[in-house]
Amino acid sequence: MNIEGILSYSRSLMQRVVRPGGMAIDGTIGNGHDTLYLAELVGEKGHVFGFDIQQQAIIQTEELLTKNNVAERVTLFQKGHEKLEESVPVKYQGKIQGAMFNLGYLPGGDKSIVTKPNTTIAAIDQVIRILAKGGILGLIVYPGHEEGAYERDQLMEYAKNLDQSKVNVLQYGFINQKNNPPFLLAFEKK
Ligand code: SAM
Repeated sequence: MNIEGILSYSRSLMQRVVRPGGMAIDGTIGNGHDTLYLAELVGEKGHVFGFDIQQQAIIQTEELLTKNNVAERVTLFQKGHEKLEESVPVKYQGKIQGAMFNLGYLPGGDKSIVTKPNTTIAAIDQVIRILAKGGILGLIVYPGHEEGAYERDQLMEYAKNLDQSKVNVLQYGFINQKNNPPFLLAFEKK
């Protein structure tokens, strides 16, 4: 396929903005794949801050990062991403180059634990505030389950109304796939 898929495109955007020695955030670490990706992009001198409310996600991600020798460049918080601004040290705020959020439930985990519109929107607001100019938040929305469809509706309403003089918002996704496929919202701070 020559058109990039959602996950791949989200990573391409991160690759474009997250530099060696830079700072990034994973707002929903889950099994840690995106955390590892960001840790590789920031390199030895950079840092990644990761958030998830589930202990299982923290443990699995810690294992994955250790196996790949990048654990010391990542700080994991077992906290909701809505507590992001109070958790990322003040000296790094305004310097975050990239952030990834992957909404919904943990694959292979408890499907009743899902991201919720109010806390997701609170977290997006906070990420936008602490991004560097030109920094990007890539957020993947999963409307294929009932709570996901509700979250999509709330998020679209919020995102459409963000001030275009402060942030660019892009929607990227396939429109002819069945069963409400996931799509990407990318927020670029101006
Ligand atoms: N990016 C992950 C990966 O590569 O494996 C997958 C993330 S998974 C789709 C969504 C995660 O969001 C779950 O692990 C869930 O526990 C977490 N989550 C739910 N509510 C959250 C919140 N308020 N703050 C942070 N994480 C949350």
